[in-house]
Amino acid sequence: MSAGRIIVLGAGVAGLSVALPLRRAGREVTVIDALPPAGGSSFGNAGLLSPDTSVPVALPGMLRKVPGWLSDPLGPLVVRRSYLPRATPWLWRWIKAGRMDRALAISASMRALHVGSFEAWRALLGAGGFSEFIRQSGQVQVFDRAEETPAAALEREFRARQGIPTEVLGADELRQMFPGIARHVSRGVLIPGNGNTVNPGRMVRRLADLFLAEGGEILAERVLKLIPREGGGWMAMTNVANHVAATVVVAGGAWSRAMLDPLGIRVPLETERGYHLLLPGANVAPRMPILYKSRSFTITPMEEGLRAAGTVEIAGLDAAPDERRAEQLLRLMRTLFPGLEGGTPRLWMGHRPSTPDSLPVLGPVPSRPGLHLCLGHGHFGMTGGPPSGKLVSDLILGAAPRIDAAPYSVNRFQGGSP
Ligand SMILES: Cc1cc2nc3c(=O)[nH]c(=O)nc-3n(C[C@H](O)[C@H](O)[C@H](O)COP(=O)(O)OP(=O)(O)OC[C@H]3O[C@@H](n4cnc5c(N)ncnc54)[C@H](O)[C@@H]3O)c2cc1C
Repeated sequence: MSAGRIIVLGAGVAGLSVALPLRRAGREVTVIDALPPAGGSSFGNAGLLSPDTSVPVALPGMLRKVPGWLSDPLGPLVVRRSYLPRATPWLWRWIKAGRMDRALAISASMRALHVGSFEAWRALLGAGGFSEFIRQSGQVQVFDRAEETPAAALEREFRARQGIPTEVLGADELRQMFPGIARHVSRGVLIPGNGNTVNPGRMVRRLADLFLAEGGEILAERVLKLIPREGGGWMAMTNVANHVAATVVVAGGAWSRAMLDPLGIRVPLETERGYHLLLPGANVAPRMPILYKSRSFTITPMEEGLRAAGTVEIAGLDAAPDERRAEQLLRLMRTLFPGLEGGTPRLWMGHRPSTPDSLPVLGPVPSRPGLHLCLGHGHFGMTGGPPSGKLVSDLILGAAPRIDAAPYSVNRFQGGSP
C-alpha cells in the first residue's frame, strides 16, 4: 500500500464526486463497485438539479398521512405491510424530523450544501461537459387548483426564508409555456434557479471516464467487509481480493449499512424505492422539468425521451419491483398532457439512500480513524452529490471546507435525534 492510498466504495454520483477531486489533488485513488459506474440509483433518477428547492421531505403534518400510505398499493407513498416492522424505527425518526423547528434547521443545511451544486458540477465536468449535460432553464411546479394548497404555502415559506425567488403562473401562462397541457392544470410556481440534466446515467459515467483518464482506478468487485488494520488503515475484503488503504470512503448508496453495521456505526439509512418510465420519441417536449404536485410525480425532458419519475415505496433492498408503479406513470403523464404519444416505454426502479432528516451523512467517523462517509443523499443526490464530494474530499485533504460540515456529521444520530 502506498501511504496515502484512498479507497472509495461506490461508483455512483456520491463516490465519483469524492474520488475525482482526490485524484486531482494527486492522491492514489481506487473506486470499487460491483456494478459498472452509475449502475445504482444514479442511473435512472429524475435528473432534477435543485439548488433552489431547500424543502425537506419530512414536513409538519406527516403523521396524519400514515393510514393512507398503508392502504393504497399504487399511491405516491406506500409502505409494504410485510416490511413495516423493519421500517418503523426509521419512519418514526422521519416523522420527528418533520417538526417545524427541526424542518427549518434542515432546510437551512440543505440550502448551504445545495446552493453550490451547479458550480460543483462545472468543476467536475469542465465547461464543455457541463453544457453537454446540464440545462439551467428552471423547473415548474404545477397544481390542479388555482388556490394555493396548504402544502404549497409551507414550501413557499421555506423558500422565502432562504431568499429563493419564485414566480406564480396562472392557467393561461402555463398553456403558453407548455402547449398541450391539460385544461384542469390551473396554477404553477416557477423556480428559475433550478435545472436538470438531460441524462443522469451518462453524466455520472462521464465522471468515471474523467477519473480513469486522470489516473484513477476502478475495480469491478463487491466489498464484503471493511476491516480495520492493526497499526492503522483499512482492508477492503472483496469477493476476489484484499485491498489495503490508509483511508476508506463509504459511498455505497442504499447498501452502505452492510459495511457500517458490523463496525458498530449506526446510521438510520432506509431505501425509498422510486420508479421511472421513459417514453422514447415523445411528441411532447416541455422546455423544463414539470413537477406535477397534485399527482406527486415529475416529468423531465431527456435526450432519450420524456422521463416520468417519482413515487416512494418502503419495501427494503431485496423485494422485487412492483412494475405497476412504473406503468401507472404513463397514465399519470397523460393526465398532464392528454395528447401524449411515444414509443415503447422503459421501466426502471432504483433505491434512494435516505436518512430520516433529508440530509446526507458526510465526513469522518470520529471513532474510526481513516474512515469517511459520503452517503444518504435520498431524493437529492444528483443535486447534493458533487458539493458533498467537494466537502468530503476537502476534509480528507485537510483543506478548509466551504461550509460548516457539522450538520451532516454522523454524530447527529448519536443520542436518538432524527
Ligand atoms: C426515482 C428516483 C428519482 C430521483 N430523482 C432525483 C432528482 O431528480 N434529483 C436528485 O438530485 N436526486 C434524485 N434521486 C436521488 C438520486 O438518484 C440519489 O440520491 C443518488 O443517485 C445516490 O447516489 P449514490 O452514489 O449515493 O448511490 P448509487 O448511485 O446507488 O451508488 C451506490 C453504488 O455503491 C455500490 N455498492 C454498494 N455496496 C457495495 C459493495 N458492498 N461493494 C461494491 N459496491 C457497492 C452500488 O453497486 C452502487 O453502484 C432520485 C432517485 C430515484 C430512485
